Amino acid sequence: MPLSEAAARLTESISGAVRLAEPMAKHTTFRVGGPAALHVTLDTLADVAAALAILRDEDVAYTVVGKGSNLLVSDAGYDGAVLVLGRAFKKHRFEDGLLKAGAATVLGVLVQEAFHLGLAGLSWAVGIPGTLGGALAMNAGTRQGSMRDAVEAVTVYNPGKGLSLVRGRDVSWGYRSSDLVGRGIILEASLSVVEGDSTRIRAEMERFLRDRKATQPMGMSCAGSVFVNPPGGAAGQLLESAGCKGMRLGGALVSPMHANFIVNDGGATASDVIGLIHKVQMTVRDLHGVDLRPEIRFLGRFEEA
Ligand SMILES: Cc1cc2nc3c(=O)[nH]c(=O)nc-3n(C[C@H](O)[C@H](O)[C@H](O)COP(=O)(O)OP(=O)(O)OC[C@H]3O[C@@H](n4cnc5c(N)ncnc54)[C@H](O)[C@@H]3O)c2cc1C
Repeated sequence: MPLSEAAARLTESISGAVRLAEPMAKHTTFRVGGPAALHVTLDTLADVAAALAILRDEDVAYTVVGKGSNLLVSDAGYDGAVLVLGRAFKKHRFEDGLLKAGAATVLGVLVQEAFHLGLAGLSWAVGIPGTLGGALAMNAGTRQGSMRDAVEAVTVYNPGKGLSLVRGRDVSWGYRSSDLVGRGIILEASLSVVEGDSTRIRAEMERFLRDRKATQPMGMSCAGSVFVNPPGGAAGQLLESAGCKGMRLGGALVSPMHANFIVNDGGATASDVIGLIHKVQMTVRDLHGVDLRPEIRFLGRFEEA
């Protein structure tokens, strides 16, 4: 793959940073993962268009990454280009009754902004790490709400088609998934928010954060829930009743606090994490006859998978 040629052309054509062999452990909340062959920051819409044209021309595969808070990157890394949205996509504004934000905006910033403006409708998202783009791709949510409830419209960029506006009601939303990823790179979204009572919003946010702190290993290197809840059940309960809490492989540990969280307990590799994922999947299958499906996304080649 002519990566150095692609890197040289990208450096010449775009304003954002272009890096070769960038360790993805620096860009994921698991703090594991080998190098991305190319790591490219797209600071403007012109960067997006130019970079995608060059990558297509040079036949280099690519993927978009937000804050890597739902991502396990293999130890061997990714042999394509990791694209990250930069400057122009970190802005937000309140306009025409909608909170409009670039996809690189940190979701927590939007939650706080809504609170400061006395706007209700996003407090369920308090404490969810990552960017707006990642939250839209994943239909991030909790029992109290999810992105599908908040989205008015999303702007995506597709190399063949350019920019298009997708109405929230036209997106196919799944449980921790959406079909937005297949439509292109998510660049911006408008979220519907309603006027609310600041005291109530604050109380709600504090309650949700308290619940999170009481039940989740906050502050540990992890990627949130590893598995989606199977129909009619809770992955965490199945894992706990199968005795998975505290199971360990190398530096990867099933959190003693919440069985659906695998944490990097220090020095974990992606192989440790994927190995532990397989181990607990087998344990639950043997005991409960349920196949747990991962919620986290994988990037790169995993030999054991
Ligand atoms: C401690 C902790 C708690 C968590 N709690 C929750 C929770 O309560 N609820 C929940 O739903 N999740 C939770 N998560 C998981 C994670 O925070 C969410 O899935 C988050 O929305 C991912 O955002 P991100 O920017 O980090 O996306 P990434 O992890 O970088 O990417 C996730 C996916 O989105 C795609 N993507 C990212 N940006 C774009 C874009 N601009 N265009 C197209 N595709 C894109 C990526 O290719 C990838 O497939 C938690 C994670 C942690 C570490």
